[in-house]
Amino acid sequence: MGNPKGFMEVGRKESGYRPISERVDDYGEVEQTLNEGDRVLQASRCMDCGIPFCHWACPVGSKIPEWQDAIYKGEWKLASDILHSTNSFPEFTGRICPNPCEKSCVLAIHDEAVTIRENEASVVEKAFAEGYIQPRIPVRRTGKKVAIIGGGPAGLSAADRLNQMGHTVTVFEKDEAVGGLLRFGIPDFKLNKKVIDRRIDIFEKEGIIIKTNQYVGFDVKGAQLLKDFDAVVLAIGAMQPRDLPVEGRELKGVHFAMEFLTQQNRVNRGQKFAAKDRIDVKGKNVLVIGGGDTGSDCVGTSNRQKAKSVTQIEILPKPPVKRADENPWPYWPTTLKTSSSHSEGCDRQWSLSTKRFIGQGGTLKQVELVEVEWSKDENGGWKMNEKAGSEKIVDVDHVFLSMGFVHAIHEGIVKEIGVDTDQRGNLKIDGNYQTSVDKVFAAGDSHNGASLVVTAIQKGKEAAINVDNFLMEKE
Ligand SMILES: Cc1cc2nc3c(=O)[nH]c(=O)nc-3n(C[C@H](O)[C@H](O)[C@H](O)COP(=O)(O)OP(=O)(O)OC[C@H]3O[C@@H](n4cnc5c(N)ncnc54)[C@H](O)[C@@H]3O)c2cc1C
Repeated sequence: MGNPKGFMEVGRKESGYRPISERVDDYGEVEQTLNEGDRVLQASRCMDCGIPFCHWACPVGSKIPEWQDAIYKGEWKLASDILHSTNSFPEFTGRICPNPCEKSCVLAIHDEAVTIRENEASVVEKAFAEGYIQPRIPVRRTGKKVAIIGGGPAGLSAADRLNQMGHTVTVFEKDEAVGGLLRFGIPDFKLNKKVIDRRIDIFEKEGIIIKTNQYVGFDVKGAQLLKDFDAVVLAIGAMQPRDLPVEGRELKGVHFAMEFLTQQNRVNRGQKFAAKDRIDVKGKNVLVIGGGDTGSDCVGTSNRQKAKSVTQIEILPKPPVKRADENPWPYWPTTLKTSSSHSEGCDRQWSLSTKRFIGQGGTLKQVELVEVEWSKDENGGWKMNEKAGSEKIVDVDHVFLSMGFVHAIHEGIVKEIGVDTDQRGNLKIDGNYQTSVDKVFAAGDSHNGASLVVTAIQKGKEAAINVDNFLMEKE
């Protein structure tokens, strides 16, 4: 710990966002960066507590106090090495992690947390700029071959670890580029896709084989992979969206959020869509149903497309601004979150349920909403009641269903090779990350349910360790 008084002398300083008037006209990253001097000061606020709750709260177990100290001392390479020891992609988490570490920072008990996420992004960008991050070609190969199905953060994290262990890794990805939801879900204004390409370029130099446009279960059969590889890791995500089966769901204008976000990300990559297929909300009234990250990304994308109005509704009540008594530090705070997209313009409403979509000639025109109240039933479970007489009809042209994801898609590889699923529809694994099918493992959202990038990275790491044990025990 370089400066024992840093937390008393230096206040939290965030890098902030580009001005709204500028950023809503493009898809460039909204977040800015601090200069190096300020960044070092921010790192000096870390108290190197006896028990680093930040480390406890971080799914990848980042050694946060250690690399804050390295930043403070100007040892950027060391900071980068410590970061990479637990996380293959600090450039992703440094940009888009909701930073549970900061919520658990001891400073956050009575003061403002260390800017851990921003510090992480600064370290990894400095490390790239200085050339500290170079391909690490494994010196020894085991002769074992592993197929990773799915090139999202979980699959790529597993691929990196297994490759560094000396196994020969091939990633099969159904889309035209790897990255999973980082690439085609999360908008460019949160994560510039060149950041993914930069890392993939290094992975390929390190020997990872990446095969895109390979939909396993369809283009390539799982049975064939089981013959050709010593182990298979299913990192296929949890991409089955939660639907809203109410009257009018079939109307033109009611979309899953991912149809909108994926298309805009592809347009930003230069792909062209016929006008009839393009989801263009310019001059239109948009309703986003679901108050989470995906919904917020639809808000930001709608504002960039110049929607006439953007409303986001949530069925749950408005969360408190400050932690409630039953939700104390150091746990994840269930408080109101306002994203950069929300501050660009959005009418946010809570405790609203959707009764039906109303159309004309097959096209969405209006939606009927009703206010709801939440109470506890006799078993202590939450019960939702519609408030009589609170129904209202609202004009709307496009609805984006952003109510989360239920589980992995079962059509294709899961059904083809007969992987068991649990009662929620996630891939079932044992304590060694093995599925019900011999030599088939699972990683990330596919077995864990829809979660976070940082969790997917950790699950990929853990799956890799178990695959390695499995392969090497067979020696
Ligand atoms: C819109 C949106 C915004 C989000 N924002 C954030 C955020 O800000 N911060 C955060 O931490 N998390 C965020 N998340 C969650 C995060 O993106 C996911 O938890 C994470 O990407 C899961 O990683 P994964 O590798 O398990 O799965 P995915 O990222 O879903 O990757 C799965 C990959 O498998 C491929 N695949 C599937 N089936 C096959 C097959 N049969 N053959 C070949 N390939 C296949 C898919 O094409 C995909 O590339 C967001 C999610 C969404 C939808």
